[in-house]
Amino acid sequence: MTAPDIPVVTVYVDRSKCQGYGQCCFEAEDVFHLDEDGKLVYVADSDISHRADIVNAADVCPMQAITVS
Ligand code: SF4
Repeated sequence: MTAPDIPVVTVYVDRSKCQGYGQCCFEAEDVFHLDEDGKLVYVADSDISHRADIVNAADVCPMQAITVS
């Protein structure tokens, strides 16, 4: 038996652009956070219900480092 297809939203952050400003964390706190060293940690595949928050996070990123697909 195969697992049912669950719609996901895929996030990619270009770490060469990311400066760790953290604006994305405020827009989609279930997906992005900064670790204790100030390094961005994120969930690459999230439930589709997070899509609007993730798109907002991409919009506010001052480095345009976030790609959503
Ligand atoms: S808002 Fe952009 S630059 Fe700031 S931590 Fe998020 S991805 Fe990195």
